[in-house]
Amino acid sequence: MEYISTRGAAPALDFEAVTLAGLASDGGLYLPREWPRFSEAEIAAMAGLSYVELAVRVMQPFVGSSLSEAELRELCEGAYGRFAHAAVTPLRQFDQQQWLLELFHGPTLAFKDVALQLLGRLFETFLARRDQRLTIVGATSGDTGSAAIDAVAGRDNVDIFMLHPRGRVSDVQRRQMTTVLAPNVHNIAIDGSFDDAQAMVKRMFGDKDMTARFRIGAVNSINWARLMAQVVYYFAAALQLGAPERRVAFAVPTGNFGDVFAGYVAAQMGLPIERLIVATNINDILHRALANGDYSAGTVTPTAAPSMDIQVSSNFERLLFDVGGRDGAAMAQQMRGFEASKAMQLTNAQREGAASLFSSARADANETARAMAWAHEHYGEVIDPHTAIGLHAARAADLPAHVPVVTLATAHPAKFRDAVERATGLRPSLPNRVGNLMEREERFVELPGTYEAVAAYVAEHATPSA
Ligand SMILES: *Cc1c(COP(=O)(O)O)cnc(C)c1O
Repeated sequence: MEYISTRGAAPALDFEAVTLAGLASDGGLYLPREWPRFSEAEIAAMAGLSYVELAVRVMQPFVGSSLSEAELRELCEGAYGRFAHAAVTPLRQFDQQQWLLELFHGPTLAFKDVALQLLGRLFETFLARRDQRLTIVGATSGDTGSAAIDAVAGRDNVDIFMLHPRGRVSDVQRRQMTTVLAPNVHNIAIDGSFDDAQAMVKRMFGDKDMTARFRIGAVNSINWARLMAQVVYYFAAALQLGAPERRVAFAVPTGNFGDVFAGYVAAQMGLPIERLIVATNINDILHRALANGDYSAGTVTPTAAPSMDIQVSSNFERLLFDVGGRDGAAMAQQMRGFEASKAMQLTNAQREGAASLFSSARADANETARAMAWAHEHYGEVIDPHTAIGLHAARAADLPAHVPVVTLATAHPAKFRDAVERATGLRPSLPNRVGNLMEREERFVELPGTYEAVAAYVAEHATPSA
């Protein structure tokens, strides 16, 4: 399988190279040259497979010859063996139409573990094979950081530098990053927003001084391998609900458009998805873009769902490229316009292409709290604010009664227990697997929100790639 950049001017790479590269050298994002497609019979034959076997089946076409089937299976067994539920991503029912897909049974309590536990193992395998080192630089609104750090802490050949916006992640989120004291883990709190942090990370990929000395790798969902791993649970849920005979809709709490783009990929592969409902909080650039073609970034407003406090959704570029005719030169020009003015208008082809599968909704603070209260009062389910935004959108969606709607439960409620307590009166306790998180020693540095300060820190503390 070959991967190409959305901006048309970077070399095509195989799966191994694309995993280590992260962002393409032309500033674009990598996508498979074409979508692998399963027949209806092939999808029907996946029913009843274990999560690991399903993951191997769904991911093998993307991995191509970079891993043998046995190698891929071993990595999946390692990654999904760390989940606290035998089903890995169990499905729960609210009522005749509404379902919840629990993606938070991994080590750091958010769905990011599903992809990052695998990605950490892919890095280790590929780097050992090449005898190379990787300097991972990432930006986190909270959950990517802890999941990535858990996935690579103490591994050979990898240093990780994780930027988080100071004071804008929850205590639990911060401690899950800063209490990991492995020498290859470097936490940086910057003055600024997640978008500022993400922009610095993207800039480092294009910084010739840095890339000459370090092989810079990505753990954000700009890394294709992350999205690939997330495609699996769309198949898992839909199969349980009767696919391929029955069509299923998904409501996805969205920030960087990674998780919901994985649903789009599942649909391209032949999974019969009725609708993908993009759920945002009041930082609603994606809702505006899908509703009326207006993709313009405002300023970020902090909410109870900080992992979605994002105005620039990196992976949206992948969708616009794919539905807009896969024209790299045109995409590069459109994105240059966006980067200059922080605003762009979708083309008609992009709007129509997106509208065929996606709809969107936004939830404000009251709607988010009401969705948490509804789940608790009616079904005894305690859900986190991100999940609640998805559930709000799922219940507001206008879908035929026979179409099941699966809300992706992206975080464990204990990760955001202050917001959960305000909405439900209940304070969820942290599961045993996180241990004595609130007592452990923390380690992180605080840096001003400038690229120069961050680059200098990374240069000083990373091991050169030799
Ligand atoms: C990262 C995250 C999201 C948003 O996912 P994207 O892939 O960025 O759209 C939603 N909820 C939680 C809990 C998250 O950690």
